[in-house]
Amino acid sequence: MPLPLDVEAIRADFPILTRTVRDGKRLVYLDSGATSQKPRSVLDAERWFYENVNAAPHRGAHQLAEEATAAYEAARATIGAFLGAPENEIVFTRNSTESINLVAYALSNAATAKEPEFRRYAVGQGDEIVVTEMEHHANLLPWQQLCERTGATLRWLGLTDDGRLDLSDLDTVVNERTKLVAVTQQSNILGTINPLGGIIARAHEVGALVLVDGAQSVPHQKVDVTELGADFLVFSGHKMLGPTGVGVLWGRYDVLDALPPFLTGGSMIEVVRMEGSTFAAPPQRFEAGVPMSAQVIGLAAAADYLTALGMDRVQQHEEVLTGYALEQLQAIPGVTVIGPPDTVARGGAISFTVDGVHPHDVGQVLDDLGIAVRVGHHCAWPVVRRYGVPATTRATFYVHTGYDDVDALVEGVREAQRFFGVVPAVTEGGTN
Ligand code: PLP
Repeated sequence: MPLPLDVEAIRADFPILTRTVRDGKRLVYLDSGATSQKPRSVLDAERWFYENVNAAPHRGAHQLAEEATAAYEAARATIGAFLGAPENEIVFTRNSTESINLVAYALSNAATAKEPEFRRYAVGQGDEIVVTEMEHHANLLPWQQLCERTGATLRWLGLTDDGRLDLSDLDTVVNERTKLVAVTQQSNILGTINPLGGIIARAHEVGALVLVDGAQSVPHQKVDVTELGADFLVFSGHKMLGPTGVGVLWGRYDVLDALPPFLTGGSMIEVVRMEGSTFAAPPQRFEAGVPMSAQVIGLAAAADYLTALGMDRVQQHEEVLTGYALEQLQAIPGVTVIGPPDTVARGGAISFTVDGVHPHDVGQVLDDLGIAVRVGHHCAWPVVRRYGVPATTRATFYVHTGYDDVDALVEGVREAQRFFGVVPAVTEGGTN
């Protein structure tokens, strides 16, 4: 089956894919889930900013400052359009982790805010926060910490044996005491795409807010915040072809407007006096300090690049590759996929174990062949514990991934088995 995206043309846009690794081997980059490579247009956009308009946005009246501000705000509009959101609902942060911490700290700061209008969503003793067992640590630890600060209780939805959310007790876990449900749209370790509609509906039924972790979904599928229906969505620029050091918090404007700040300082203020200060409206209220300007411009270029490819096609492309990889990998005796075994409601993150070979050793053999994958618990330790494995090897796909990359992975896994002698090596003359 032909792939939906023109892989050769796309590869030509990524300078790093022309380099070789491990003594001249082609770089087979299957670690986009950790961080993606950057097309030339993103690199050029950052360079353009520094070479032409570099100044601190929102400060100063000189021409560069005006142009830097215009470029920064145009990027906000681009990201808003990418998500189907008005630009005043887009807050730039450092990454998904900071976006989630921003919300968690705003909710605990709300309890002690001197402004009554900021106390509406305050979390305190007796309240509950709900997460799932498949969350990345970035969407788990901030909520554990929030509970420790406020006396609230953390509850979670478990997992089924085939790597999906167990929603059988949704109505008990999410109840009248729930203040917020934080759930990933796509698991970074299992690849599972979660059915968020029912979870969001239940959360809203009991008056809870919903934060969706889109770190692994926004780069790989069309996400429209109106269709999603959540209250917050977070994601990282560096996983969607953009620069490191920039992330996004989208929030429904009325919710953002009712939250106190997380970080305070320059540029997020309305009036400052020695006796006390008042804060700007969102999104500025949540963007204290000189922002990561060039990175924001680069992120907008990444969104433009993905939009030009078409997010639906990006998703189809990864689905075809995922189906192919699942079939090939599961045909190898001793290989077990941790997560949904087929492409139903599943993205292009494939975690697997190889009987008799530790995932770190699999990763080492693959690396020797020029294949970059991730090994470990993937910052989702409860997940590997749930499935009774010490770690997994994980391959993740993106727009420049082709069949040749998947073939290299599959052959590399067989090579790891041969290297560690866990299956008989097959030669032309037969088995030896
Ligand atoms: N959420 C998920 C599902 C992730 O996969 C990751 C990173 O791998 C994060 C959150 C955290 O992203 P970042 O490290 O960019 O903040």
